[in-house]
Parts: sequence; C-alpha cells; structure tokens
Amino acid sequence: MGIFTKYFLPNEYVQSIYTIKPEHLKEKNIKAIITDLDNTLVGWDVKDPTDEVRKWFEEMKENGITVTIVSNNNEDRVQTFSSTLNIDYIFKAKKPRGSAFRKATSLMQVNKSEVVVIGDQMLTDVFGGNRNGLYTIMVVPVKKTDGFITKFNRLIERRFLNYFKRKGYINWEE
Ligand SMILES: [Mg+2]
Repeated sequence: MGIFTKYFLPNEYVQSIYTIKPEHLKEKNIKAIITDLDNTLVGWDVKDPTDEVRKWFEEMKENGITVTIVSNNNEDRVQTFSSTLNIDYIFKAKKPRGSAFRKATSLMQVNKSEVVVIGDQMLTDVFGGNRNGLYTIMVVPVKKTDGFITKFNRLIERRFLNYFKRKGYINWEE
C-alpha cells in the first residue's frame, strides 16, 4: 500500500452512521468517537439533531462510548446542534490539522487506539484521522449538495474513491 492509500483510504466505508453499531466498535476496543457534523450526522442545512440521531447517541452512551463532535463549522452552528445532545464539541477545528483530534482525544481521556473518527469527507475527516494514527470510518454524505470549497474537495475525493474501488479496497457501490 502506498503513501496515498495510507493517508486517504478509510479503515471502513459505510452507508451511514446507523451502520455503525456499538457492538462493532466494542469488538475493536473502541471507547470514543470523534464525529464530524455536517453531512455526517445530518444535512449541512439541518439545524437540530433528528430523532434518529438522538437515538444513535443514546445507544453509544448506553454502551459506554463517549462522543465528541469535531467540526470545521462555526461556533453558532456546532453549539446549537450539540447542546441538546449534551455532549462535548469542538468548532472551527481546522481538520485535517491534528490539534482538534488531539484535544478531543485528551478530553475523552482515552488512548489513540481507542478512538474512531467518523466523517463524510476524505480530505478532512479521513486524512486528518489517518494522519494522526486514528481509526477512520467514512460515511456517504447525508446530502448530495455542498458549499463551494467542499465541492472542490469532492472532485478530488471522487477520483480517490474510484481508484480505491478499482483496486478493490472499497468494494461496494453507493
Ligand atoms: Mg462533513
């Protein structure tokens, strides 16, 4: 596996967060989740968590898995969303840079090996997680539309995804 694969290939690629079950994470000895917000938990234009999202957070909590939302979006967006879930969050995280990942890991008082990074973007979430030695799960974006910068990132991401599919590293169609 080349350096390119090392940094951009997620450990798992799934349809949505609902595919990710506490039992599966526990098998991997994962105790903490760093999750992206926009287009990972809800569409980028949805202000509050849906009932389904709430249930997913509840399930994780019941299984002793701590969750922190780490988002590149602004304080208002991230705080409003996170407050009703009653969990920690980091806004303007500057992913793929490492500082927010390290901060979240230390806040949750776990080792790097016990953390999973979940997100819908290869260039911020997966790259950031991989580069910092964390387990990564990529999800298909909740919504197909994006802001301007993300749109550009998606063009690159699409090429990477096609490459990984050709190589057989990712073997299902969205
Ligand atoms: Mg996102």
